[in-house]
Amino acid sequence: MVESLYIHIPFCNRICTYCDFNKVLIKNQPVDDYLDALIREIEMIGEDRMKTIFVGGGTPTALTEAQLARLLEVVTAKFTVTDEFTFEANPDELTPGKLDVLKSYGVNRISLGVQTFNEDLLKVLGRSHGYDDIFNAINHMEKIGLDNYSLDLMYNLPGETMEDIEDSLRHIERLKPKHISWYSLIIEPHTVFYNQIRKGRMQVDDDSAEGEKYFHIIEALAERGYPQYEISNFSTPQYESAHNKTYWLNAPYYGTGAGSHGYVGGTRYYNIKPVNHYIQSMKETGSVVKETLPLDEKAQMEEEMFLGLRMNRGVEIARFDRKFSRPMGDVYGSMLEQEIGKGHLQERDGFISLTEKGRLVGNTVFMEFLL
Ligand code: SF4
Repeated sequence: MVESLYIHIPFCNRICTYCDFNKVLIKNQPVDDYLDALIREIEMIGEDRMKTIFVGGGTPTALTEAQLARLLEVVTAKFTVTDEFTFEANPDELTPGKLDVLKSYGVNRISLGVQTFNEDLLKVLGRSHGYDDIFNAINHMEKIGLDNYSLDLMYNLPGETMEDIEDSLRHIERLKPKHISWYSLIIEPHTVFYNQIRKGRMQVDDDSAEGEKYFHIIEALAERGYPQYEISNFSTPQYESAHNKTYWLNAPYYGTGAGSHGYVGGTRYYNIKPVNHYIQSMKETGSVVKETLPLDEKAQMEEEMFLGLRMNRGVEIARFDRKFSRPMGDVYGSMLEQEIGKGHLQERDGFISLTEKGRLVGNTVFMEFLL
């Protein structure tokens, strides 16, 4: 049974300097045609109940109130959402009017793209929002009782200091979000940042400075009531992201929209990326052009381990045994013993997880699972 759905809105009002997501500037885009195609794709899904829905992008809040309402009308008529219904949002676009629309359709979680509280760094990132926008959005969210939000932050930004990290921590103490995602900036090819670094016009931290910030963040957030539960995610009790855990538990999910991907029946699929091609394929064939990648059992087991070890609690042994009708010990026995011996992995309360030492060499440990 598939219990999670991702919906992709590939439009942004401004393109950030570091971004390599599947997105386009919204100006002059056929947004309503895109919604037509997206709605058709959503309506083709067999299920009528979802545990989690995540609407991401791009920026879903780049849509107008009327467009948001149109999409949500279809989604909520089709699915009963039993657990978590998240919308990604940029602070400057999360107007009271749009928030009211989201709330009225049962959206119960906001993933707020704050990135940093430093106004200068926000400019370097090319973000459309400023410092005040963050508080305007949060104030209204709290006013209407939509106070379950994740503060999405980045570190390892060009020119960022430890004081910037401390400043974010002070804001966290004051705002008390339920959840925090704090990712290291990755310099991706085909971005403005990539070109600037290649030309020597910009620098980011070396690995050791980045590591120092990372471990400081983990420790400081734990002290403030946000224990780490995944490599880049931290939460107060009961507010871990149910949708993202679908991915880390290697559970099935649908992906809808241009460039989205899904995992159903042991097959990963990747929807065609360009917005116009996505619309065209739906118009001409009544379905979306996609690449599919069926995973054999070996690949499914590898992914189960890779993804599960991202979480601090790790991979549940009994769940693995049930899922693959084979004991984990039969599949990975000697390797597990070896990595436990090296102090990289540990078996605790029925879970295999990375130790602190293992986290430092995570990729080396992951490689061991390639049978
Ligand atoms: S708003 Fe998000 S998706 Fe859009 S360009 Fe910026 S980082 Fe990328």
